[in-house]
Amino acid sequence: MGALGINFSYVISAGLFIFGLKMLSSPATARKGNLLSALGMLIAIVATLLATGLDYRWILLGIVIGTAIGLFAAYKVEMTSMPEMVALFNGFGGISSLLLAWSEYHQQGEISSFLAGVTFLSAFIGGVTFTGSMVAFGKLSGKVPQKAVVFSGQHLINGAILLSALIAAALFCVFPGSWLGYVFFIIIVLVALGFGVTSTIPIGGADMPVVISLLNSYSGLAACAAGFVISNNILIVAGALVGASGIILTNIMCKAMNRSLANVLFSGFGTKTASSGAEDGPQGEVRPATAEDVYYILEAADSVAIVPGYGLAVAQAQHVVRELGDLLEANDTEVMYAIHPVAGRMPGHMNVLLAEANVPYDQLVEMDDINPRMDSVDVCVVIGANDVVNPAAAEDENSPIYGMPIIETFRAKTVIVLKRSLNPGFAGIQNALFFRENTRMYFGDAKVAIQALIAEFKEAK
Ligand code: NDP
Repeated sequence: MGALGINFSYVISAGLFIFGLKMLSSPATARKGNLLSALGMLIAIVATLLATGLDYRWILLGIVIGTAIGLFAAYKVEMTSMPEMVALFNGFGGISSLLLAWSEYHQQGEISSFLAGVTFLSAFIGGVTFTGSMVAFGKLSGKVPQKAVVFSGQHLINGAILLSALIAAALFCVFPGSWLGYVFFIIIVLVALGFGVTSTIPIGGADMPVVISLLNSYSGLAACAAGFVISNNILIVAGALVGASGIILTNIMCKAMNRSLANVLFSGFGTKTASSGAEDGPQGEVRPATAEDVYYILEAADSVAIVPGYGLAVAQAQHVVRELGDLLEANDTEVMYAIHPVAGRMPGHMNVLLAEANVPYDQLVEMDDINPRMDSVDVCVVIGANDVVNPAAAEDENSPIYGMPIIETFRAKTVIVLKRSLNPGFAGIQNALFFRENTRMYFGDAKVAIQALIAEFKEAK
């Protein structure tokens, strides 16, 4: 295929990426958006492969191995392990950009300063993305300790590492084609790989999803730079889109936790709170409820807001929750699913789970829409959520999560909290909601406990 045909295909691909991304912003269109973007990528890959002068043997081998690994991972991964898989994929994206820049360095005869600059960016950002993502993967999967590793002078050391990379980059751009330039390039690669580790270890496991979103953005920037290295327009466009959307998502997540990106990256959040478990937080009398108690409360309610959290994902309770929602509706109860933007362990986690169970989109209510009407909600059923409903975020100035917007379930007439124990959630802090007068604790695994409730409804028919 000629250059014109290839570039025309790239324009179509870029259009599909942009429309696909736009459609990802609503649960109702997200699946189609994903397909559209994938189609865009397919067109881009086919167009690229039709360029003349390629050695297909290696490409074919790569396609076969990559497809096999991708398919296996996609089928095997648990919903709760999705952030880990995204971390791995970001890391692979990063290392691809690094290797591409490296191999192009050897292919190019004359290296201009511009080419040297983008080669540095592709290798450096790619290297940081790779090792940073591996650390993030290790922390999320529990293969390395989740706790933030902090020590005095750490920011200074990281600053010095970054500075040394910039100096090596400047020298590389001055002598790009000589053996000295190559030495600087190798230094850049080594520093990048080291910096990925040293800049990620001070961040606790609790903040890893934000870091993954940031690393996703880095992988896009590295790919964009790689696109300039090999003069491939669609790689530049796709990389820029990933870079921009990753940083927007990072920003949304930080806002939802009421924290700045600097606070996430440098504060070592989780090191101070890790020790303050349930015993250090608010205490009081708990009012436990049985399945039968909860049934009577729900049966009499005119409106019920279900607030899902990470525990719902762990228990894989989305299908039984949908069934419960249907039974409530059949009982003339208004049913809503109140979604907090950082409930769970990845952005949109709850939307994805509920969509899997075909919960009607019009029953999903965002935090900002449910809170103003919370006083009129008869019952809030909190299922495996903890931090995102903790009143301390609104009331306790000393709380580490103070200022984080929450779903204000405590303002509903009655709150049912379904979880296995009084253990704290992700932030490691106790939840005053458990001890409120209008709260009933329904202890158990989310799936098993909802099944018991469904049985109560069916028995009463
Ligand atoms: P939390 O982590 O605060 O709480 C989850 C609760 O689920 C736990 O307290 C646990 O209690 C309960 N649970 C676990 N397993 C089960 C089970 N099988 N059945 C019933 N309950 C169970 O979750 P939230 O969703 O409320 O909050 C998310 C947290 O993650 C926030 O702190 C947020 O800032 C953080 N975060 C989220 C990101 C995102 O993108 N979504 C990104 C970064 C951080 P018990 O053990 O007693 O059952």
